[in-house]
Amino acid sequence: MRNILINFHYNDFKVGAYIRLSKEDDNTTESESVANQRLLIKDYLKIHELKLAKEYIDDGYTGTTFNRPAFMQLIADIEAGKINMVITKDLSRLGRNYVKSGYYIEEYFPNKKIRYVSILDNVDTFQNSQNNDIAPFKALFNDMVSKDTSQKIKSILQAKKADGLYLGAKAPYGYQKDPKDKHKLIPDMQTAKIVKKIYTYFLNGKSINTIAAMLNQKGYPTPSKLKNKKDTIWSYTSVYNILKNEIYTGKTIQNVWTNISYKNKTRIKRQKQEWIINPHAHKPIISMATFKQVQIKLHKKESTPLKPRAKLLLEGFVYCHECHHLLGANYNKKSNTWNLTCNNYKKNSQQKKCTAHYTNYQKLEALVLKQLNSLAKFDNLQCNYQKELAFLNNKLNILYEDRLNGIITLTKYQELKNKIESQMAALKTTNKINLNRDLIARLIDKITIDNCKNLRIYYKFRKND
Ligand SMILES: [Zn+2]
Repeated sequence: MRNILINFHYNDFKVGAYIRLSKEDDNTTESESVANQRLLIKDYLKIHELKLAKEYIDDGYTGTTFNRPAFMQLIADIEAGKINMVITKDLSRLGRNYVKSGYYIEEYFPNKKIRYVSILDNVDTFQNSQNNDIAPFKALFNDMVSKDTSQKIKSILQAKKADGLYLGAKAPYGYQKDPKDKHKLIPDMQTAKIVKKIYTYFLNGKSINTIAAMLNQKGYPTPSKLKNKKDTIWSYTSVYNILKNEIYTGKTIQNVWTNISYKNKTRIKRQKQEWIINPHAHKPIISMATFKQVQIKLHKKESTPLKPRAKLLLEGFVYCHECHHLLGANYNKKSNTWNLTCNNYKKNSQQKKCTAHYTNYQKLEALVLKQLNSLAKFDNLQCNYQKELAFLNNKLNILYEDRLNGIITLTKYQELKNKIESQMAALKTTNKINLNRDLIARLIDKITIDNCKNLRIYYKFRKND
């Protein structure tokens, strides 16, 4: 197929949008509706900075014939020079007759220097695109492929989202769906007031938990109650989510989640630049200034989170001798020490299920290390490590000699050298003799403390191996 590349100024295009709704499409998807075809085309024109000259609609005409009034008008306007670009939602809108579609795409449009764009098939006859070559065949074969259908629906949804239409199943708390337009949000008299109160309380210094308690006391309906009609209470999370939701400033943020594919429905989060944000989609409940103030306040609170601490060397290895529960570690700020207590005791101190088994951790660790160091097995481990290191060193020397004697190429030498060196590095980090938790796990099954503070170490090997 020919490609005609003409340097047109984009402003020179007189765009004819061709929309077709056939009877056979009536009971199919919403994606074929006139409104959706129009929306998709409008969106395309906006993105490509093109202006619509005229819209041609054939409502109720099959794609197998080209004797349709609006289509014939389009051709007449092309002949009269009123239109030099034709755009359709997809190839099937132009026609379902392969021979005739092929004639227009391959013969008629190029001869008349008409640019033809089929949005969903990614066909643009003025772009040197591979898709153009398959266009006539696609008109014949690809209509029924489910992937196509899925992609088409996605594109329709995205066009809607770009227009700021609200596509959620339920309106968010504080809003309701406009009875005249299910894709538009309007503030809900009752709950919008509650949203405002939450923001005011928070800016007046109330904590999130206090706000939740206040709302419960007043018996205000909760977001989940409105959704599933279950009797629920306000929680930290439900208040927090309202304080974080930009929708209250009049903004819609959509296209955040997507499925992996049309077959795999696992939801994944899109990259931020793919999100479709419409800042003035509906009436705000919260002013932008207030929202920003709240975010700053929230951020201050969040920026000092508790860092997950690294585990102590023996943490998780020490058990209560009496009840077999783990001894948990607690830090004592005053004495700057770590202490262990029986978890069973800590959880059920009232029921006296066990005693504290209170143990100073540092002392325990020192004792265990002393024991380990005195073990022959431990020395063996160190021995093995040294042996392996020496072995790798030797390999490196041989390799070097091979290179000197010209037995191997420089490339091969470097490749093998890198390999050995990375093996050595790995050996050094995993088998470091200063004890780490991995090594402890290899050596020790468990350690127990009894209520007379006796220490027992259960090894994974027999001492005299
Ligand atoms: Zn215990």
